[in-house]
Amino acid sequence: MSEVTVIGLGPMGSAMAATFLEAGHDVTVWNRTASKAGPLVAKGAKQAERPATGELLVISQISYQAMYDSLGEARLDGKTLVNLSSGTPAELREAARWVAERGGTLITGGIMVPPPGIGQPGAYTFYSGPKEALDRYAATLEALSAVTYVGEDPGLAMMYYQAQLLMFWSALTSFMHAAALLETAGVRPSAFAPFARELHGELASDGPLGLGILGEELEAGVYPGEDNSLHMQAVGMGHVVETLRAAGLDTTVPEALHRLFARADAEGHGDEGLTAVVESIRQGTRPAP
Ligand code: NDP
Repeated sequence: MSEVTVIGLGPMGSAMAATFLEAGHDVTVWNRTASKAGPLVAKGAKQAERPATGELLVISQISYQAMYDSLGEARLDGKTLVNLSSGTPAELREAARWVAERGGTLITGGIMVPPPGIGQPGAYTFYSGPKEALDRYAATLEALSAVTYVGEDPGLAMMYYQAQLLMFWSALTSFMHAAALLETAGVRPSAFAPFARELHGELASDGPLGLGILGEELEAGVYPGEDNSLHMQAVGMGHVVETLRAAGLDTTVPEALHRLFARADAEGHGDEGLTAVVESIRQGTRPAP
């Protein structure tokens, strides 16, 4: 059994504190709104008067600003803070300096499951920062999820986390657009879902649409179009936007995709494959051609 203090008792922090308790750890909790500690105290947690209590502080708040607001001018000598809140990589790097100036060590993380997934099989968290500090507390943190260390740079865990969220949110939103389009013709989402599942299965596979092959193309910098040229897909995406518009649906995201494809086409990648859009992505945002 080890001691851990959980700072932040929203849905995520509360699930973490409860999971630490179930794993038999000695749990202290702190939250800006103190009343949220009640259910956890009833389960055996101690409630701290100040957030900087104990040696291992696991933080789950809405932002990194919330950590500054909570800790104020407290000294953090000898303490290890594991912040699993959302932020930007630059904020995480700044936070690592801020914690070090107060005598503590910051481990940053991005947790890849919603609150009910905490402590469940398949849960994992990207961690970055000093490896030896993470190793010291890994056995405790494993109560929450698998510990996936990605590197020393404190911003790196957030970059992995955001990379996954970008794919997650894009995929879900494209499903909503697709389902809304078919609904305008009376097709229920449940009738379409099997086809969407099959497509996602192919993306996860080692087949020609698989992300593994796309990754190899990205690393090689070679994007063979073969029978599926980027130009053909840019034109097809334009038709998708027209169809959505004619159906009276929102086109914000599909239009942005079409602009990106058309730009990559105009920049000379039309005969290559879709993966060539990465060349335009790497150049940053530009006006549409
Ligand atoms: P929120 O992101 O809404 O965070 C709520 C917590 O932040 C509460 O404890 C709240 O305190 C605290 N807080 C907000 N502002 C301040 C402040 N200025 N000072 C001190 N405390 C503050 O809810 P979640 O619990 O869902 O998320 C926590 C973190 O986990 C977020 O960064 C989120 O991105 C991340 N996350 C969440 C997932 C989810 O599915 N929920 C999944 C993966 C990551 P109070 O109670 O006093 O308002």
